[in-house]
Amino acid sequence: MTVPVRKKQNVTILGSTGSVGVNTLDVLALHPDRYDLYALTANSNWETLAEQCCAFKPKFAVLKQRENLPVLEDRLLQAGCKTKVLAGIDALCAVAADKDVDVVMAAIVGGAGLEPTLSAVNAGKKLLLANKESLVMSGSLFMEAVEQAGVILLPIDSEHNAIYQCLANGAPNHATGVRKIMLTGSGGPLLRKPIESLTKVTPDEACAHPNWKMGRKISVDSATMMNKGLELIEASLLFSLSPQDIEVVIHPQSIVHSMVEYVDGSVVAQLGNPDMRTPIAHGLAWPDRIESGVVSLDFTGLGKIHFEAVDLNRYPCLALCQQVACQPQSYAIALNAANEVAVQYFLNELIPFTDIPIIIESVLEQTSYEEAHTIDSILALDEEAKHRAVKKIRAR
Ligand code: NAD
Ligand code: MG
Repeated sequence: MTVPVRKKQNVTILGSTGSVGVNTLDVLALHPDRYDLYALTANSNWETLAEQCCAFKPKFAVLKQRENLPVLEDRLLQAGCKTKVLAGIDALCAVAADKDVDVVMAAIVGGAGLEPTLSAVNAGKKLLLANKESLVMSGSLFMEAVEQAGVILLPIDSEHNAIYQCLANGAPNHATGVRKIMLTGSGGPLLRKPIESLTKVTPDEACAHPNWKMGRKISVDSATMMNKGLELIEASLLFSLSPQDIEVVIHPQSIVHSMVEYVDGSVVAQLGNPDMRTPIAHGLAWPDRIESGVVSLDFTGLGKIHFEAVDLNRYPCLALCQQVACQPQSYAIALNAANEVAVQYFLNELIPFTDIPIIIESVLEQTSYEEAHTIDSILALDEEAKHRAVKKIRAR
């Protein structure tokens, strides 16, 4: 019997210079027989993008910011690299949707990822979704587009990837007999810090995650547990579950990546070392399995793993997300937008850590009930909420 020859897959990585992007390249480097790189993209980091182009030889490299296009072109020319260089949002959307692309890794951080990610969805690409903010912002519009285009959507966020693996048949639409989902979260680097001392937390302290090495925005979101709140909204959309059926549990060791409890009392969990290459490899190869470069989990050397309830007084951002998960889309957009602004101001040392939930809550208080059925209305609500957040910060 002859073994059928598998067609190589063309991959675009949106946000290749970031933490998820680099981990994706690490996995792809192990499988040159299965994948070719079609495009790599970055916001402004042309130096890392140039290095990646020389190493991986994609057909296209795209910078969101046009200013650095000439230097990138120059560097690639000097290095004899034939990658074609493009810039701007239209180019980002184009390399996500091109007919030659099979798989898109959506790993841009924040709402900036919405348009290129949706562009991949509308073009029917297999989508590996790390960029949770784009899903949170666009909600049912995103999921309807996925449905309409018949897209294979693999969650890359480790918790959602775990849930996907724990659900019978792996497919979200088969989430039958589920009693609840337990989203695990480490609690971040400030889990044991006295609440009254949180006003003094520095950006470096907030970004010093005990188990995961990630970009700075998601690291701050992990310290406030906004990340888990966004993930709660993400899970309810991905798996068509009511937010009330999703429980957040603190699990400081980040070994159990999430769990599904069924009505018969069975609990199915996915475990592994905290390393994003596992969900990335799972998403890339699904329904197959491929090597990720991640070492085996050493059960006998693990020591104690434990779980505890979340103290919402310590994590008010999570409480805000629990409310927003049950409200119209305008609230999720406002929450995400205000958080992006507040986190940036905190990282620039312009507001204290504890102001983040205060800013978000005050933006939410001024939000009106509105559904958002078009991408333009989502972007308009996003911009409006960002303006309100900046105004609040300046008024403090
Ligand atoms: P990062 O900050 O390390 O990288 C972000 C990438 O997006 C970079 O390539 C950057 O150039 C690009 N980018 C930033 N702003 C842009 C803009 N305005 N336009 C176009 N490109 C832009 O972020 P990350 O930690 O890799 O996270 C990426 C996404 O994946 C986030 O949505 C995050 O929540 C999610 N995620 C990350 C991890 C992780 O381990 N890092 C885990 C789960 C989910
Ligand atoms: Mg996660």
